[in-house]
Amino acid sequence: MSAELPDPRTVSAYHRRLPYGQRVSAESLLGEPFVPFEGEVRVVPLADPLIPEPPRNGEPGGGDCYRCVNPDANVIWHDDRWDIRTGFEPIGLPMMAGLAPRQHMTLHTLTPDVVASLGEVVQRLALAIGRIDGVARTHFSRWGDGSEHFHMWFLARPLGMMQLRGAMIAAWNDMLPPIPDEEFRTNMHTVAAAMAEGGGQAVGAGAG
Ligand SMILES: [Zn+2]
Repeated sequence: MSAELPDPRTVSAYHRRLPYGQRVSAESLLGEPFVPFEGEVRVVPLADPLIPEPPRNGEPGGGDCYRCVNPDANVIWHDDRWDIRTGFEPIGLPMMAGLAPRQHMTLHTLTPDVVASLGEVVQRLALAIGRIDGVARTHFSRWGDGSEHFHMWFLARPLGMMQLRGAMIAAWNDMLPPIPDEEFRTNMHTVAAAMAEGGGQAVGAGAG
């Protein structure tokens, strides 16, 4: 049967071009203002595509949906539709927080009322994170490759730290010295309190 499956490396013109098993050059990145690496950078070999892709958490055959199994874990604010979670692991930025609907939905199945409120809650959370002392801007991203449950990540870019602009802020978050617990508790409270001003409730570490 497996012989009838197409070779994953040939499923599209894009896939057919790529140098699987080889190390591509990092040269085009080095020297860019947003890239935190210099000198000899060795890129890992390019892996073969995996088709069909393994199920994400929350999908049939995948692991449990963390958010649905742990409805209150790490939640610092919620209203009827959305919650904000943070503090999963030590971070190097003043804040990294996840925004997700309270109910299990994918981007494709977000209900009309949740879709309609998305713009407003994104704006509110970006501004709430901006209330943290020393934060200039809030970056946000949706990847969604780990869990099926729709979620976006919000990252605080510190004032004046111009190297932290752009997508590599997520790498900086892992490399910078971890923020001390007490300082992070203050930041969680700042964000949750700012959100609660516009509705919903600060809860957990956000209320403390
Ligand atoms: Zn879920």
